[in-house]
Amino acid sequence: MELNLADTKKWIELFVEKVEDNTSELNELDTAIGDGDHGSNMARGMAAVTDALAKKEPSDLAELYKTVAFAMIQKVGGASGPLYGTAFLDMSKKVKETTDLAELVQVGCDGLKRRGQSDVGMKTMIDVWQPVAESLKSDNFSKSIVENALNATKDMVATKGRASYLEEKSKGHLDPGSQSSAYLFEALLEVLGE
Ligand code: ADP
Ligand code: MG
Ligand code: MG
Repeated sequence: MELNLADTKKWIELFVEKVEDNTSELNELDTAIGDGDHGSNMARGMAAVTDALAKKEPSDLAELYKTVAFAMIQKVGGASGPLYGTAFLDMSKKVKETTDLAELVQVGCDGLKRRGQSDVGMKTMIDVWQPVAESLKSDNFSKSIVENALNATKDMVATKGRASYLEEKSKGHLDPGSQSSAYLFEALLEVLGE
């Protein structure tokens, strides 16, 4: 699967919309197992993405992904800013070589792992990115893949990020970064018309 420039822009715009519509929900999830700012962090980043795209229309996919990356690195703050920023920056490099979404999402996920020194099963956004990348590779990317991946974070014990301070008590709550990543991939499904 691939997306052209116009549809990739639509993807990002839908992601922005979902984060803006669900900022307080993201803050609430982060209040349970973190410091309560994930929604506000992401909303600040989304405003910066919107501003950056309004200021300068990206001329190709690499520039679009890079614009998103820089806005998030500069404005999201918290752990999630550099993580999302790295994922989008790595995608902006990879897209010069391939526009295949499975490869792009995998490269983004690898960037999260490298930057976060983390992997699947640690109750982080990687637990959504990795299953999505795999489903894109095997051509069964769907809403239920995203939902199941997100819901699976509920019973995990966090071993990275702030939630890891709670140890066993981090169980029983969805991971906030996995929820924002679920919005990202639900937005992608909408653009793909599924
Ligand atoms: P902070 O924890 O600094 O307040 P946010 O609340 O914005 O930052 O983001 C928290 C989210 O970031 C978590 O829910 C998790 O998904 C993700 N995260 C945190 N640390 C890591 C890590 N080392 N690797 C991958 N993802 C991480
Ligand atoms: Mg937080
Ligand atoms: Mg914080």
